[in-house]
Parts: sequence; C-alpha cells; structure tokens
Amino acid sequence: NDKSLIVSFGEMLIDFVPTASGVSLAEAPGFLKAPGGAPANVAIAVARLGGKAAFVGKLGDDEFGHMLAGILKENNVIATGINFDTGARTALAFVTLRADGEREFMFYRNPSADMLLKPEELNLELIRSAKVFHYGSISLIVEPCRSAHLEAMKEAKKAGALLSYDPNLRLPLWPSAEEAREQILSIWDEADLVKVSDVELEFLTGSDKIDDESALTLWRPNFKLLLVTLGENGCKYYTKNFHGSVDAFHVETVDTTGAGDSFIGALLTKLVDDQSVLEDEARLREILRFANACGAITTTKKGAIPALPTPAEALKLLNA
Ligand code: ADP
Repeated sequence: NDKSLIVSFGEMLIDFVPTASGVSLAEAPGFLKAPGGAPANVAIAVARLGGKAAFVGKLGDDEFGHMLAGILKENNVIATGINFDTGARTALAFVTLRADGEREFMFYRNPSADMLLKPEELNLELIRSAKVFHYGSISLIVEPCRSAHLEAMKEAKKAGALLSYDPNLRLPLWPSAEEAREQILSIWDEADLVKVSDVELEFLTGSDKIDDESALTLWRPNFKLLLVTLGENGCKYYTKNFHGSVDAFHVETVDTTGAGDSFIGALLTKLVDDQSVLEDEARLREILRFANACGAITTTKKGAIPALPTPAEALKLLNA
C-alpha cells in the first residue's frame, strides 16, 4: 500500500504457553506455541490495522525461524529486513502460568539468533525509508545486536524518521537492575516518542509514585510525546504544550499479553501520515482513545498476535 512505512526493530520468538496453570514447567501437560516478541507484535498490529509495516531482526535458519517469518508475511508485514542465522537457533521462551495468573518466563537464549544481528547485516535501504522507526526491548542487552540496534536508530533518524521507543523491560534478561536502568536511559534522549507502562515508570524513576511529577522526570526537551500506559486505567500523555489522561474501555479481560504492543501499534498507524496530531490535543486524545480500544481488545483474547484487532473490531468498540 502507499502509506508511509513503520519499521519495527528487535526480536521475534515463540512463547511456549502451558495448557494448565499453577504447575511447574516440568509438570505442564502440554504447551501451545504462541509467536510473539514485542517489536514483531507491533509490526503485525500496524499491518492488521491497515498500515504499512516492516520488521527488522534476526531469526534462526530453523523450523521456528521460518514459521515466524511466515507469520509476518501472512500478516502483510514486509519481511525484507529479516536475517537468518545459520548457526544459532530462534529464540524461545517457556512460560509458567502461576496460580495467581502471573507469568514467569524461562528463555532459550544461548545465544539465540536474535542476539546475533550484526550492523553490517542491516537492510539500510529499508530502514532509511521508514517514516517511523520503533524499537525497544531486549536488543540493547548484548552485542552484536546492541550495535545493530544503535546503528539502525542512527540511520533511521538521519533519514528523518520519527523514533518511537518502548523499553519493554524484561528484567530477568538483564545482568542487573542497575544495568537495565542505565542502558535503557542511555538511549532515552534519542527518541521522539516514548511509551512506558506504570511498572516501567516506577522502575526507571525509582519512585513508587505514578503521578505527573514522576512521569515528567522522564521527559526530555526534544520529546514530542511521552506516554504512560496504565492497563485498565487507560493512559497518560505529555507533550511540550499539554498533558492529560484518556480512560480505558471496559472489556472482559482474559489475557493482557500484547496490550501495550497493540496500543503503540495503533497510535503509530494513526500518526505516521500526520504528525501534526502531536500538536493538537483534541485530535491526539481521539487517537489515544483508538489506541486504548486496540489495547483493550487485545486483552479479550488469549495470546498477542491472534488478539490484535482489525479496524472493524476497533470501530465496534469505539462506537459501543
Ligand atoms: P503493557 O502491555 O505495556 O504493560 P498496559 O497493560 O498498560 O501496557 O496496556 C496498554 C493499553 O492497553 C492500556 O493503556 C489500555 O488502554 C489497554 N489495556 C490494558 N489492559 C487493559 C484492561 N484490563 N482493560 C482495558 N484496557 C486495557
């Protein structure tokens, strides 16, 4: 399609989700394959909503890697930024569903292919054609994908893309909490748009308050938009000229996986062709209402990718 391109950079992997909760990994009766990875979810969220999306990252040249690339293509995500590593395997995560509903993850990253993307393997032509470049999550943690991440950001920015950052804190993957905070904040100033969850806000500020004062410590002079997502309480937004909050939709939530990715994908889809909405509070609020609706819908179904909404589903909730 002739829309402007949103490139999403980072990892894609398979979560093995047990068919029973409250049991250990070893006791799980079986597992369902749930493809995911925040940046890949965002790319599919954009494409499903009718936007033009590409995913940039590395997969193993194995059954799982080709399955994941196939899922991106089936969902109309441009796949020319994907590399396949012939040595390392596709990243996998084994999930434990605790009786209290929380998820615990054990990662196969030994190292997994996604961590091995090298700067020289980047499809720079694709990256330079992005109007929005979205990133975040685990590609900052180790080399060489860290250098690839920084290079891709630099090239996208130089070519005029809006940089969108969702840190997607995965604390257990980091050597320490201090290092996670330090590294996440080390690329903070580069972004034009940042989205954090309430949990990430607390982690990054070191404060247990989720208020404007605390959020504004994460604001940078060059930012165009800072968002704090609050689950069933919607989201808060901050720009140079105004700030406020937009309520969530009431839905029957069964699994919140991917809600944040759906939210940011929806937002990017709406602003990629018209960034002037960032200066118009009424229009921005309308878009955030749409993003909240997309996030809410994603919580009503199991998994992330199967639960990402179509425009018709979003419209139905918006008009309900
Ligand atoms: P993340 O997945 O990054 O932790 P959130 O859980 O805050 O992000 O979800 C992102 C957005 O999805 C929220 O801002 C909200 O609009 C929507 N959302 C998430 N959980 C719910 C819920 N239980 N009910 C309604 N909307 C939700």
